[in-house]
Amino acid sequence: MQLYNTLGRKKQEFTPMDNKTAKIYTCGPTVYLYAHIGNWASFIFADLLVRSLKKIGGWKVKWVTNITDVGHLTEDDVGMGDTGEDKMSKTARKEGRSPEEVANFYIEDYLKDWKRLRLSEPDIRPKATKYMKEIIAFVDKLVHTNYAYETSDGVYFELDKFQSYGTLSGNKLENLQAGSRIKINEDKKSPHDFALWKKAIKQHAKALQTWDSPWGKGFPGWHIECSAMSEKIFGHQKNKPILDIHTGGEDHIFPHHECEIAQTGARHPETNDFCGNALSKFWMHRKFIMVDEEKMSKSKGNFYRVEDLTNEGYDPLDFRYLVLSVHYRTQMNFTWKALEGARVARLKIIDFWQRLNQFIPYQKDNMKNDFPRLQAEDFVEAINDDLNTPKALGILHDTMREANIMIEKQLLTLEQQKQLQAFIGLFNSIFDIFPDQPENIPVEIHKLAKERLLAKQNRDYEQADKLRNKILDLGWEVRDVKDGYELRKL
Ligand SMILES: [Zn+2]
Repeated sequence: MQLYNTLGRKKQEFTPMDNKTAKIYTCGPTVYLYAHIGNWASFIFADLLVRSLKKIGGWKVKWVTNITDVGHLTEDDVGMGDTGEDKMSKTARKEGRSPEEVANFYIEDYLKDWKRLRLSEPDIRPKATKYMKEIIAFVDKLVHTNYAYETSDGVYFELDKFQSYGTLSGNKLENLQAGSRIKINEDKKSPHDFALWKKAIKQHAKALQTWDSPWGKGFPGWHIECSAMSEKIFGHQKNKPILDIHTGGEDHIFPHHECEIAQTGARHPETNDFCGNALSKFWMHRKFIMVDEEKMSKSKGNFYRVEDLTNEGYDPLDFRYLVLSVHYRTQMNFTWKALEGARVARLKIIDFWQRLNQFIPYQKDNMKNDFPRLQAEDFVEAINDDLNTPKALGILHDTMREANIMIEKQLLTLEQQKQLQAFIGLFNSIFDIFPDQPENIPVEIHKLAKERLLAKQNRDYEQADKLRNKILDLGWEVRDVKDGYELRKL
């Protein structure tokens, strides 16, 4: 399988480092507000990766996606995420709830949508607040090895000490310093040094979640939890990155992932020569999504949630389909029209699946035709090529078009039907877009349809009509096809 590695910016052959299990870490949400469709597009991408590695690559996967239930300062959009007010505390105060209540509320909503979008369950969903001991020990180690220093308001990572900073994003230190918009904190050695720990003092006096540490009461910076938790969960082996693949949204590349790399790199300096990165071998990112050709922003009110889509009558799986119909490295533009297109395309596949399963093939297998061609192989090849889902979908739709003609003309054989069913099964093991309860045809209806077919074959048309009406009364329509029947729910 070829995957595009943001680190190095090229496609590379992927094999898990231990040849068995792919270790994957995905940056999860900060639970002080609702997850929006941009976040979900990124998680759908991570789910696609996990499923493809399992179903197509044939590897095992250990997948971790965290929940940030602490901190996150408000001004991260202009700097390294370490100025401004603690967002969890801000929301808690605004909503008159404790940070734990805020976190639990948004976690519940997040997990509900996670399920509705059919995202695979990760193996572990660590919460930052449960790893405070590891986080503090990690920071302490960096202080003791002189990669970090204490100031009056916190502990900062000294970027000058980490020469390879900027490898992932291309934001080298010298470029950052020109054009800096960051407020100067007098205590910091360089304006770009980022916070590992913030002290609960002065402007942060209102922080509601604080922990005891060697630097007094405080709370962790934004980036440290991912370095600390991935190391604790996956373990560190000498001269090897901790993870096979680290994923996130394009917006995570800088500063978040760059800072994660610096932290873990500084903790294991002996690993830094090894592909320049002690944390992860591959870095993969889902490109931003736009809404009506515009960036999502609070002021434009286009931070749609899954709830907004279902309120308009869409199935969350329509959105899942839409996201997967665009390559993850292509910018996706969300519009209601595009979502409608995805709904129609998805229904076509569901219809086809039902039609295929209900079709009774012409049993005399003496027909020669070259259908189906090697769709499954082509499909696998598309996924293997950096998860090319639009191409894979194209193969599916082409196949359906041809198969529909074959069904219409009664040319599909039992063997071909089985092959197509296996192909759709493979497709759905990755895309997972069928409804929760497929419209299974009750055994009773099938029995009546078969009786009717028999009556017709015996030229007992009166009995056949009676049975047709009985089936109609039960809410199903039976349609004649050569030597068989099709059933459709009314
Ligand atoms: Zn992270």
